[in-house]
Amino acid sequence: MTVENKTVLKLAKVQDAHLKNKTVVVRVDYNVPMKDGVITDDTRIRETLKTLGLLLAANCKVILIAHFGRPKGKSEPKYSLGPIAPRLAELAGVKVHFAADCVGPKADKTIAAAKNGEIVLLENLRYHPEEEKNDETFARQLAGHGEFFVQEAFGALHRAHASTAAIARFLPGAIGYLVQKELEYLDKTMVCPVRPFVAIIGGAKVSDKINVLYSLMDKVDTIIIGGGMAYTFLAAQNTNIGKSLLEADKVEEAKKIILKAFKNNVEMLLPADHRVVREIKPDAEMEITQAMAVPDGWIGVDIGPRTELLFTDKIKGAKTIFWNGPVGIFETPAFAGGSITVARAMAEATKNGTTTILGGGDTLSVLKTAGVGAAQISHCSTGGGASLEFIEGKQLPGLVALSQK
Ligand code: AMP
Repeated sequence: MTVENKTVLKLAKVQDAHLKNKTVVVRVDYNVPMKDGVITDDTRIRETLKTLGLLLAANCKVILIAHFGRPKGKSEPKYSLGPIAPRLAELAGVKVHFAADCVGPKADKTIAAAKNGEIVLLENLRYHPEEEKNDETFARQLAGHGEFFVQEAFGALHRAHASTAAIARFLPGAIGYLVQKELEYLDKTMVCPVRPFVAIIGGAKVSDKINVLYSLMDKVDTIIIGGGMAYTFLAAQNTNIGKSLLEADKVEEAKKIILKAFKNNVEMLLPADHRVVREIKPDAEMEITQAMAVPDGWIGVDIGPRTELLFTDKIKGAKTIFWNGPVGIFETPAFAGGSITVARAMAEATKNGTTTILGGGDTLSVLKTAGVGAAQISHCSTGGGASLEFIEGKQLPGLVALSQK
């Protein structure tokens, strides 16, 4: 936690609660990548197993509440949590009951049929518009399923929803092992990082990451900017960017961030060359620019080879690294090279004793594309948005709700 958070929030931990034989409602983040109903990455499920194991060993009946995708307040089969239940049963090694609704008779019946030492997974919270409205009545219904609440959905802590905020008013609660681990890593990094501390910020838009860029300027030694957002920064320095992604209304903001880096003596690295195409399509003819500028009519889709060297050199020299956002359009294999190089350099740095922290769904996908396992990085955060807001120094509503006065 940030120093500010630390002084304000007192959070109970699940391992300190007396939960033997109790029915426990656990908010998890099972918003896993899925293709045609098949889970393609179950990391978020695995990360909750330690807390589930603790509860099951205490003979609790475990009621899991979670969201999946953005069904916008109505039931939609493609956003069902149904496919999660068999995988969870396999991983947890216990019976997992699935209820076709998270409140009402279907939920009540399934919960009543489950025994202690078993898990009930309730259908997508976001089928009900009340969830995202942080509705009290809905939260009370969810709380009514159990006697204790465990917050284990790190990726949802930055949202004030019924299952993350209002629910805490109706049940005693604690944070699970995953949330504890996430907070410990982020806290350690942000409060007293071993230096040099390097942040790599990529992704599509400056607008999503302005606040985090500002707050990182007070903490890091070097900031590396890549991906689509780098072009707005290059434009702010009057470098030609061709047809690359530009947020014209953020150029002034980019100038202010550059100025803050200068004032704070923070080294800022932008791409020194680029892989460029005339049209974004998988088999597009690709060129490498000679310098920072992108020629007219061309689009920057990835960092160039000189930039790869520049970035890996900084990664090698760092003692702490935070990475959020790919440095190219990595979803297209031909444009993934730069992001793969960064991922592999991160793994190498970790091996050499550097603390590496990575956040964001896309960044995790890059790791996979690069063939780098999560175990080769010190900490892969399960919550991109939540980790960014934490670093910005914001209070996360899901933690505030649980803090003990
Ligand atoms: P974000 O969600 O902000 O982390 O952005 C991730 C997205 O940024 C990915 O879908 C990438 O394809 C995209 N991205 C990375 N580099 C570029 C680029 N040079 N031009 C456009 N989009 C990019």
